[in-house]
Amino acid sequence: MAASNDAGVVVVFDFDKTIIDCDSDNWVVDALGASQRFDELLLHLPWNSAIDAMMGELHSQGKSMDEIAGSIRTAPLSRHVVAAIKTAHALGCELRILSDANAFFIDTVLAHHGLAGYFSEISTNPASVDAGGRLRITPHHDFRHGSCSSHGCALATCPPNMCKGKVMEEMLQELSVAAAAGMRRPSRVVYLGDGRGDYCPTLKLAERDYMMPRKGYPVWDLIAGDRRAVRADVRGWADFKDLETVLLDIIHECAVAAMVEQDGGGQVVVGMVVPECCALPAPKVAMAVLPKAIHASN
Ligand SMILES: [Mg+2]
Repeated sequence: MAASNDAGVVVVFDFDKTIIDCDSDNWVVDALGASQRFDELLLHLPWNSAIDAMMGELHSQGKSMDEIAGSIRTAPLSRHVVAAIKTAHALGCELRILSDANAFFIDTVLAHHGLAGYFSEISTNPASVDAGGRLRITPHHDFRHGSCSSHGCALATCPPNMCKGKVMEEMLQELSVAAAAGMRRPSRVVYLGDGRGDYCPTLKLAERDYMMPRKGYPVWDLIAGDRRAVRADVRGWADFKDLETVLLDIIHECAVAAMVEQDGGGQVVVGMVVPECCALPAPKVAMAVLPKAIHASN
């Protein structure tokens, strides 16, 4: 059966420039003084392969895992993001991460800020430390020969090592099956992201879901370029205070919608249990920053 505090909301965060306010790969490379060499590697390698090669070169130069971990721990993370994560979790939302960074950088940041326990699942590029103490970063979707993706997505915004849309499709299917089996409440997904790779999963969301693009960043422009392609309700955020406000507004809306659905079905109305520490903001009436997509039958 579904957990009693299941809010019926799954919040899926991108990591770079969404949870932290930088690109984790660039942050570590810059901190370790290897920016120019990384740019050279990117001339002939896909990004995911270049960062793995970069870690190999840094290891050869004597850079330790402690130095790498120490550099990523200094990545900027807004207190508003921390508050948004803790409040959403307290309200019964399930939190996940869908990121093209890597497991080592993400785990290190979350542990440093005491946030690891708030996330039920992290989908990203695997990371490991080999016998020689060198950090290895491997593709989420394995690919060979550098340029051929194995995930099968033809969208130009998906890199060869990871199609976030494919991961999102699998997640939506998993949630649907679990709800049909009575293991959880039917869920609305809220997805937050900024980059080109966040566009494909945006296209997978349904009308009951929400997309929160970072304003002025690539995924915002991609969505604005073809509003009819996106079924989800689009709510942009300009800064991290805005992220917190918009996300909590959406969670409140979802709680109201879930109560209406249950009431309409003649069942007992069960509202969201709001912890004493988490006063919900009043919902805003007109908060959509982009017009809702209009879907004509074809
Ligand atoms: Mg990002």
